[in-house]
Amino acid sequence: MLIGAHASVWAGAFDKKGVEKTIQSASSIGYDLVEFPLMDVDGFAHETAKKLLAERNMACTASLGLTRETDISSTDAQVVEAGRVSLMKAVDLLAAIGGTHLCGVLASAMTKYDAPSSAQGRENSQRVLAEVAHHAADAGIRISLEVVNRYETNLFNTGADCREFIEEGALENVGIHLDTYHMNIEETDMWTPFVNCREQLGYVHIGESNRGYLGSGNVDFDAVFGALDLIQYDGIMVFESFSSAVVSKELSNTLGVWRNLWDDSDDLARHALDYMRGRLNGLRANNTAIARGRNRV
Ligand code: MN
Repeated sequence: MLIGAHASVWAGAFDKKGVEKTIQSASSIGYDLVEFPLMDVDGFAHETAKKLLAERNMACTASLGLTRETDISSTDAQVVEAGRVSLMKAVDLLAAIGGTHLCGVLASAMTKYDAPSSAQGRENSQRVLAEVAHHAADAGIRISLEVVNRYETNLFNTGADCREFIEEGALENVGIHLDTYHMNIEETDMWTPFVNCREQLGYVHIGESNRGYLGSGNVDFDAVFGALDLIQYDGIMVFESFSSAVVSKELSNTLGVWRNLWDDSDDLARHALDYMRGRLNGLRANNTAIARGRNRV
């Protein structure tokens, strides 16, 4: 399993300085991977990223949330086309820096809608995603649709509904991206979605209910890590946390980050890596003990 950190832990903009700081910090702390938010594809320092990732032997992924202007679930053909272009550009940029996964809120805008999604909008989203995923497959990139809460999309808010969306659109090279912060708001429990989406699960965000230090909120991480162990998940796991001390104003406002839960990026990231590894190793140690016990019987 590759364990990564979201680049917003260290920087708000991904010019040369932001990219350098992120890769150097994540690598020094011991992460295998960095996830870059591609809210500004044109301003992203891709040459620096490619060089540093190779130097540090780090993997990389990218995520984004579409906007109202690039919403592929819109019924306005021009907006849908703008979204298609934006997603294609993100795939190309990710391919250029050697990334493997594009995830996030790709099926709709990342915003609070004031009406349910329409049948036409749903179909538009599926049609564009099929095309983007086909293009991504040619570049060796997998697409994963993030399941986010009701205040950030109206298309699907649970793992089961995302699965239905993918199956209904017969989408290939498209998986499910579960995030414990959103699951804690929408799912009945923190176990069932992992088990029910095991075939399509391609990406996991580990985030606390307050989006701060892991263990400081009410996400049931016993259930989360127990379920991941049960399904023998070996995909990508990325720690995600936001503080308005670091995140760009635009993303901070979209996500509703109105208070700071931390200001020391490295301390937060080090704690998160220890927490995730501790949970994973604890489970392995526990399972080994159980297996030994069984052998004795
Ligand atoms: Mn997330």
